[in-house]
Amino acid sequence: MREAEVIIVGGGPAGSSCAWRLQREGVDCLLLDKERFPRTKLCAGWITPQVVADLELDVASYPHRFLTFERLLFHFPWLGLRPRTVQHSIRRYEFDAWLLQRSGAPVEQHRVRDIREQDGHYLIDGRYRCRYLVGAGGTRCPVYRQLFRDPSPRAKRKQVVTLELEFPCDYRDPRCHLWFFDHGLPGYSWYVPKADGYLNIGVGGFASRLKERNDDIKAHWQHLVGKLERKGLLQKQDLNPGGYSYYVRGRPATTRLGNAFIAGDAAGLATKDMAEGIGPAVRSGLRAADAIARGTDYDLDGIERRSFDRRRLLLSALLQRRY
Ligand SMILES: Cc1cc2nc3c(=O)[nH]c(=O)nc-3n(C[C@H](O)[C@H](O)[C@H](O)COP(=O)(O)OP(=O)(O)OC[C@H]3O[C@@H](n4cnc5c(N)ncnc54)[C@H](O)[C@@H]3O)c2cc1C
Repeated sequence: MREAEVIIVGGGPAGSSCAWRLQREGVDCLLLDKERFPRTKLCAGWITPQVVADLELDVASYPHRFLTFERLLFHFPWLGLRPRTVQHSIRRYEFDAWLLQRSGAPVEQHRVRDIREQDGHYLIDGRYRCRYLVGAGGTRCPVYRQLFRDPSPRAKRKQVVTLELEFPCDYRDPRCHLWFFDHGLPGYSWYVPKADGYLNIGVGGFASRLKERNDDIKAHWQHLVGKLERKGLLQKQDLNPGGYSYYVRGRPATTRLGNAFIAGDAAGLATKDMAEGIGPAVRSGLRAADAIARGTDYDLDGIERRSFDRRRLLLSALLQRRY
């Protein structure tokens, strides 16, 4: 039996941030992930300056692709905006592996299936035992599924479905484009360049609204690809996107039960407006670590609910920052 004070399930941004903070605090922890890193994670890989700050990321010494956008191009059916807002792009394949390694925590490749409570401890698959358990396994996190789903079911209407692809591409336009509500999509589509010739394109929208309209996310993917080709942003080629679904922030969820916590996508914390989940994953992972190491409350206050300040965007529109 492998014992640790804390076991973290999942090595994405939530899990690795939690491990990083626990290691700093000198708390014995072990991280389990079903994948061997680096691993593919479907994600546009767009991060905010807040993520950079929370992770104390020294951009100059970050060894992988990192691109900064001084402006974004927002395309609405009726208006285009170019708000000034510093944002960055990374590749999750590189970023997650780097964060996990930086955490300094021991990592084992193991797919968690079964969790039992026994004598004030958690027993995992009969092989691992811990006093504190952090569920950071994303949408299908087994900690959420076994301990939190019944007391805190997820609201179907908060579910987002996506299709996306990241691939080597000699892109012509190095700017980041976002199309909102295009072709009736209840969400947005994106074109996010990465440094050194990688491109990420995708579509995401609310599953329930697509279903109500008898609409299909695949049709929106085809529409995006056709549009990018017409605009000369993409050359005609066969593209096979991958799909993933997750949840945006809804009513307050139960995120702690005894010594078990859930963080990041396991807790459904992506922002309501843009479905960005990396920032909330990092913050919640850090907070879970603080709760364990320092006995602070594990609450979600201060974890961003929205990506953008609507007033600033409106001001940007009023100032006619169009293109
Ligand atoms: C197409 C798409 C585009 C997105 N674009 C952005 C974006 O640009 N910016 C942004 O901020 N957010 C974006 N998001 C959301 C963001 O990717 C997630 O919110 C974020 O990855 C959540 O981090 P996490 O650590 O909670 O979970 P994850 O990153 O999903 O990590 C969970 C980890 O748990 C492991 N795991 C799962 N099950 C088990 C198990 N049973 N046993 C052991 N390990 C397990 C997985 O292998 C994985 O490594 C996007 C999401 C999608 C799908």
